[in-house]
Amino acid sequence: RGHVRFEGVRFGYDDDMPILKGIDLDVAPGSTVAVVGPSGAGKSTLARLMYRFYDLTGGRMTIDGQDIAHVTQASLRAAIGIVPQDTVLFNDTIGYNIAYGREGATRADIEGAAKGAAIAGFIERQPDGYDTRVGERGLKLSGGEKQRVAIARTLLKNPPILILDEATSALDSRTEAEIMDTLEAIERGRTTIVIAHRLSTIVHADQIVVLEAGEIVERGTHAELLRLG
Ligand code: ADP
Ligand code: ADP
Repeated sequence: RGHVRFEGVRFGYDDDMPILKGIDLDVAPGSTVAVVGPSGAGKSTLARLMYRFYDLTGGRMTIDGQDIAHVTQASLRAAIGIVPQDTVLFNDTIGYNIAYGREGATRADIEGAAKGAAIAGFIERQPDGYDTRVGERGLKLSGGEKQRVAIARTLLKNPPILILDEATSALDSRTEAEIMDTLEAIERGRTTIVIAHRLSTIVHADQIVVLEAGEIVERGTHAELLRLG
């Protein structure tokens, strides 16, 4: 479960301005692909297309052989979890921010589930006893802590497919390093698409593709790409 394929994917926000110019990519179930490349290359656009925010102008994307054009938005949302670059929190508790909108949950369910996610995951590892903080308000959290809330939210959904859209790029490099192992832990067993800006943050990816101006210009493992340098 979670076999993602892009076949000749073409897309433009305007008819006369192609942004993605024929992307072919096969992401084996449970594997991690990293997409790197300069700003404006089309990386985020590729991620948004998986959620079907826009229709393709050519080619297709499939999940387990099913064309996503024929999959409901609700099933896509159930199958795919996104950890965005900047997490915006509600003016509410950490628990609420982790669990809002989750299926039929009462407020007590939400806080309980959030605590479960926290304990099952990583939050307990915080030196300041983060696991006891689900009832605390989330607005004062640091950037790294906010990203942990976003990760816990995704963990609670337990999606087979994960998109990390520059999930650490707004953080300083120390904080980034601190949450890298957490991210690797939630990637385990899931098909993951990591959009990254630095090659150093994606050493663990099974394959890396370099996107430039809407085309894949290189692909390989981390070691292979470093050799190309
Ligand atoms: P990356 O994630 O690699 O930085 P993006 O996918 O964000 O690249 O952007 C690719 C190109 O698409 C850029 O030229 C950008 O200006 C353009 N673009 C992104 N979003 C929109 C949009 N909503 N409408 C029109 N053009 C967009
Ligand atoms: P869910 O819908 O599974 O509960 P969330 O509500 O936590 O997941 O976040 C997924 C939603 O967040 C998507 O429907 C999308 O609207 C939005 N979103 C957040 N960040 C991004 C991103 N980087 N790219 C595309 N969509 C994003």
